[in-house]
This record gives sequence, C-alpha cells and structure tokens, in this order.
Amino acid sequence: MKRSTSEWQRADAAHYIHPFTDSSELAGNARIISRAEGVYIWDHDGKQLLDGMSGLWCVNIGYGREELVTAAAAQMRELPYYNSFFQCTTPATIAYAEALTQVAPPGFNHVFFTGSGSEANDTIVRLIRHYWVASGQPKRRIIISRTNGYHGSTMAGASLGGMAAMHAQGGLPIPDIVHIRQPHYFAEGNGMGEEAFGTLCAQALAEKIHELGSENIAAFIGEPVQGAGGVVVPPSNYWREVQAICAQHDIPIIADEVICGFGRLGHWFGSEHFDIQAKLMPIAKGMTSGYLPMGGVLVHDDIANVLQEKGGEFVHGFTYGGHPVCAAVGLANLQIMHDEKIVERVHDEIAPYLQQQWATLADHAAVAAVRGCGMVAAIELGQKDGSRFASTPSAGVQCRDLSVANGLVMRAVGDTLIIAPPLVINKTQIDELIAKARTALDAFAAANL
Ligand SMILES: *Cc1c(COP(=O)(O)O)cnc(C)c1O
Repeated sequence: MKRSTSEWQRADAAHYIHPFTDSSELAGNARIISRAEGVYIWDHDGKQLLDGMSGLWCVNIGYGREELVTAAAAQMRELPYYNSFFQCTTPATIAYAEALTQVAPPGFNHVFFTGSGSEANDTIVRLIRHYWVASGQPKRRIIISRTNGYHGSTMAGASLGGMAAMHAQGGLPIPDIVHIRQPHYFAEGNGMGEEAFGTLCAQALAEKIHELGSENIAAFIGEPVQGAGGVVVPPSNYWREVQAICAQHDIPIIADEVICGFGRLGHWFGSEHFDIQAKLMPIAKGMTSGYLPMGGVLVHDDIANVLQEKGGEFVHGFTYGGHPVCAAVGLANLQIMHDEKIVERVHDEIAPYLQQQWATLADHAAVAAVRGCGMVAAIELGQKDGSRFASTPSAGVQCRDLSVANGLVMRAVGDTLIIAPPLVINKTQIDELIAKARTALDAFAAANL
C-alpha cells in the first residue's frame, strides 16, 4: 500500500495503541520505519539511520539476512505450525533445542520454549515454585529481584521487574516477589568506592534473605547487566558476592539473559562474563535476531532432573511455544553466528573497539560519566560532578531527538543515553556511531550550556 508518511501517521493515530507510549504525546507523529539493511534502517521518507539499538536489543546479526528468510519460507512450506503439547513436537523444534544446549554453559541440557521474554519469565515463576514443591520444600515461594530491573511486561514479568511506573498500573507486584536495591553505582554510589558499593548491594541480598528466612525463598533473579534500566553494569565484585550468598543458602540464581545472551557481552551468555552459576536462564531477544518472536528458558540439569523424576505434569505452556518456523529461523541464526564467529569477533575485536571509542565521549562538556560492557554502553548526561541539567525537555529527550535527527538511533532512559548496536557492526560504522553521538552532544551543549 503506497501512502505518504503523514497518511500513515494519521491512520496510526486513529487505530493503533502503541506499547510504552503516551498517545497524547505521540499525536500523529509516529516514526514510521519502512525498510532496513545491515546496521541501517530507513524511515518512510527515505532518511537513513544507524540503528544503535538493534531494534529493541534484538537484531544481533543485522537486517536483511537472506538465510533467515529462506529458512522461514522452507519451514512454512513443509510445516507452518504444529504444537509441542501432549507429547508432540516437530523436528525443527527439537533441532533448535539441541543446538541451543550446545552453546549454553555446561549443565544446561534442556530448554522450555515460549513466545517472548516475558513469557519466559512467567515460566520461571511457575517452574521454580513447581521445582521446590517437587523437592519437598513447598514453602520456598518468594523470588527476590531488584529495583529498576526489567523482566518483561506480563503480570509476572512486570512483577519481577522493579519498575515503579509499571507496578503502579495494574496493582503489581503479584504476591511473593520482593525487590532489593540495584547495583547502580552512578545513581546510588554516593562517592564511595565502586567495590565497596558492590559489597553493599550484595549485602542487601543477604539482609533480605535473613529477614524473610531462606526456607521461604525460591530464587534470586537478575540481569547480568541491566538493560532497560539504563545499561547498569554492576561493580566487578557484585556477582561474585551475590553468588556466594546464594550458594550459602541454597538459593538458585536466575540469570535473565534476554539481552545479555547470544553474544551481547562477548560470550554466548552474559553469565559467562561474570562467572554466574545460574540454574535457570530466560532467553529471547537474540534467539532469532528479532526476525520472529521467540523466547525460552534454559534449565540446568539440577532442576531438569528433579522435575523429570518427581515433577509429574508441568501444567504450563503456550500455543506457539517451540513454533517450528521460529525454531528454523533460530537455527539459521545460530548457524550464522557459528559460521561468522560472531561471538569471538565481538569478544576479541569489536566490543573492545566500541568501548574504547565510546570512552572518548567522557571528555564532552555534557557528559558526567560513560560506561559499557561488550556491545552495550551508556552515557550519563550531566555536569562533571554528576549533577543533572535542569533543561526542558530533559537532556535525555533532547539528546535522543538530536541524535535521531542526525541519523543515529540512541535511546534515552531518563538522562542516560544508551546503545546496543548489532553485533555485526564494523569499525567504520562504530566510528560513524561515535561521531554522530558527539554531534548530538555538541548540539545539545550549544543550545543548553
Ligand atoms: C526485553 C526483556 C524481557 C521481555 O522480553 P519480551 O520479549 O519483550 O517479552 C525480559 N527480560 C529482559 C532482560 C529484557 O530485556
């Protein structure tokens, strides 16, 4: 259908309720993205943008990969759908489960498929409680999570998440999910040493366990690096100390790998970067590089074996869980990651280059701090002493809009600018990203400082 941008925007405003959008602010101004190739997207007016966010942290192998198109079409012709309920499944689903466990850390030999990351996190709530019942410890129901974590938008996902605005709509969190402080050094470090702050945040977990009684706790969940909360990279000692505390009380760690998995931090899984010994790993975004919706939970043998022996029927599942077309595309995505050594390339070459170049933005007058890990990074906008700008609209919104106008998609989380570019970005394109980010900062500074 050939329509002008403003015609699309009018129809959009008239009929489409957008997620995570204030429709009064949108008012017929939606950005309409019409096509994409590699690390670039084009809006409906033909303007080219470098996609610094990989869509929503998912298009890891870049846009326009014909292998995925071919895999989807072939699977659709052969078997477009069959389910995995009631002792059925499809070859594509099995093959993808097998291939996933081959790249997962040791001990992860099983996967449960869902349609999204949120469904993966709904699954872990039910699965871990079911596990403890099967293990003869039915009191273990409480899941400890973190303020400003993000675990999805379903009732359980949003409850596990620690986003106050999400809890306020819909009466969340659901019972038996509690939150402790996040390891956000820039926001909450108060001038103490970074490791001391890491210890303080890990101790918050120990205190919560003490308060609630370890016999009542089912699991601790966290993103290895918080994504939607603003690319919060924890102090280097944080996960090691959390790990020791959880081990002491026999509390399984759930590493939400929805963003950090599939090479984002330069390892197959973010857990490997921080040496987290998780028992469950929700996955989603990188599974198909966003070409089709898919999610899942990687389940460690320690849990899978108990469920198999004593769990009986797991009365849980989604119509599209293990969808054969998604699985075929997931397999093709994994094949590309293997063939092009994408994880190795990110680890050895591209992530170090990105972080080194990103760090050069630290000297800018509008930048209070920079940080990053692997292929995610953040800029804290503000004075050098860490105080924020009093500008309206906010510095984050202004810089984001200036960046987009200048041909680079960055995202604003408050006054934090974040990026998560496709893993296949090359050094020349990273130079372009940095130059465009700097131009946006310059324009912000010229207008406000
Ligand atoms: C995006 C995200 C989710 C939710 O995934 P959806 O596919 O949007 O439901 C869960 N956890 C993390 C860490 C995420 O970034």
